[in-house]
Amino acid sequence: MKITFWGAARNVTGAKHLIESGGCKLLLDCGFYQGRRTDANQQNRFLPFDAKTVSAVILSHAHLDHCGTLPVLVKNGFAGKIYCTPATAEIAEYILLDSANIQKNDCDYYNAHAGGQEPISPIYGQEDVRKIIERFETIDYFSGGGEWTNINENIRFKFYDAGHILGAAAVLLKIKEDGKVKTLAFSGDLGRDELPILKKPEAVEEDTQTLIMECTYGNRVHRPMPQIFGKLKNIIRIAERKKGKIIVPAFALGRTQELIYILNLLTRANEIPSLPIYIDTPLGDKITKIFPRYIKDFDDDFKEEFGRDGHKAFSFNNLKYIRSVAESKSLNGKNGPFIIIAGSGMSEGGRILHHLKNNIGDTANIVLITGYQAKDTMGRKILENISPVRIYGKLYDVRAKVMTLNELSAHADQNDLMDYVKNIKGLKNLFLVHTEMTQAEPFADLARKSFPEISVSIPEFSQSVEI
Ligand SMILES: [Zn+2]
Repeated sequence: MKITFWGAARNVTGAKHLIESGGCKLLLDCGFYQGRRTDANQQNRFLPFDAKTVSAVILSHAHLDHCGTLPVLVKNGFAGKIYCTPATAEIAEYILLDSANIQKNDCDYYNAHAGGQEPISPIYGQEDVRKIIERFETIDYFSGGGEWTNINENIRFKFYDAGHILGAAAVLLKIKEDGKVKTLAFSGDLGRDELPILKKPEAVEEDTQTLIMECTYGNRVHRPMPQIFGKLKNIIRIAERKKGKIIVPAFALGRTQELIYILNLLTRANEIPSLPIYIDTPLGDKITKIFPRYIKDFDDDFKEEFGRDGHKAFSFNNLKYIRSVAESKSLNGKNGPFIIIAGSGMSEGGRILHHLKNNIGDTANIVLITGYQAKDTMGRKILENISPVRIYGKLYDVRAKVMTLNELSAHADQNDLMDYVKNIKGLKNLFLVHTEMTQAEPFADLARKSFPEISVSIPEFSQSVEI
C-alpha cells in the first residue's frame, strides 16, 4: 500500500491523502487550500493527480479545508462514490454552495476593478457542486448502526464518531494485500471530550498498524471548558451595564450552534438577563436547522436538557434569526443592550462587516472573538488591537472593547491526541498531518519518548510512503 500526502502536510488546510492498493486509488478528503490568493488559486484549481483514476473518496467531515475541492474532482472526470456520514452530506452541500457563491462574488469584484487585466473565473460553480452531491453515499457511524462498507473485494471501512463537528468521522480501513490484511486509520479532525452538544471522540478499538492523525494543537493544552460560562456571563453583564452591543463574528458551522446552545442554557438557568440575541448568518441559519435531526449523535447533557425536542436548544424567546438584508440593516437603528452573532468567523466578508462598521467606534460596545483568527484577516487585526481598521475602503477607529472566548476550540489538544494514540493497540506507524511544524515537532518528540515502538513522522507535501 502506498500513501501520498497531497495536502494538509506541514500545513493545516487542503487535506488530501491518496491511498493506492491493488490498482485502487482511494482519496481521504479533498479539501480547499486556504492561504495567499495566488497559491490558493493554483492549488485548488489544479489537482496534483489524475481525477479520472481515483476510484472513490472517503470524506471525514464538511469543513471546507476537507471537502472544498470535491467539485474540482468531478470537473476533471472523477466518476466514483464519495462516502461520508448523513450529516456530513447535508452540511457539505451548503458549505460547497456557499464557497461557489463566494468565489463568484470575489471574481465579479476583482474583474470590475481589474483595470484591463485578464479577467478571472471561479474555480467551480453551483452546477459543479450539484454534480458532486449526486455522488455522496452516506454511511452512519458504526456505533450508530452503520456497517462495514466494501469499496471493492479487498478494501472495506467503517466510521467512528470524531466528536469534532456534526457528522465528523474517523475512518478505519482494512485492506487485503497478498493474502494479508493491513489496517489503517485516518482521524479526520478530532474533537474534545468537553465540547458542547457533540459526543466525545470515539477511540479506535481495533488493532491498527498505521494511523494518519491530525495534529493541529500538538503543542497546546486547552483551558477547561467550564470557564466559558463564567466569562460569557461577565461579558453580558458589562454590555448590559453600558447598554452596549456585543458583536460576535462566528463560523456558521459549529461555533454559531455552540454559542446559541450555551446562551440558551444560561438563559434557562436565569444566569443572564434575557437580552435580544440576533443570529445574522444565512449559512449558519441553514446549518442550525440540520442539528435537531441528529440528536442521537449528541451528548447526554444535551439529551437531559432537551430530551427529544432538539429544536428547542436552538430556538428560545429572546433569540431571533435574521433572514433578509433589510432586517439585518434595521439592527443598526436599535439601541443596546443586545447580541449579534454574524459571519464570517474571521470578519473577512459577510454581514459581520456591516455590524463592525456601525458599532466598532463606540466605547459602549464589545467585539467578542470566539475562534482562531488567521494572519492578515480583519479578525486578527481587531484581536491585535490595530486601529483604525479599513472596512469597505473606509477607516474606522476601534473604540469598542475587544474580548475573547478561546475555550471553544473544536480540535483535540496535546493530551487528547496522546490519549487517542495510546488507545490504539498494535500501532506501528504514526503520520502527523493537518499541522504546522511548531505544533507537530514537539508532539512527535513526546510521542517518540512515550511510545518508542511507534515510528512517528511528519510527512511533507507530495511525499509518498510504502507500508
Ligand atoms: Zn475540521
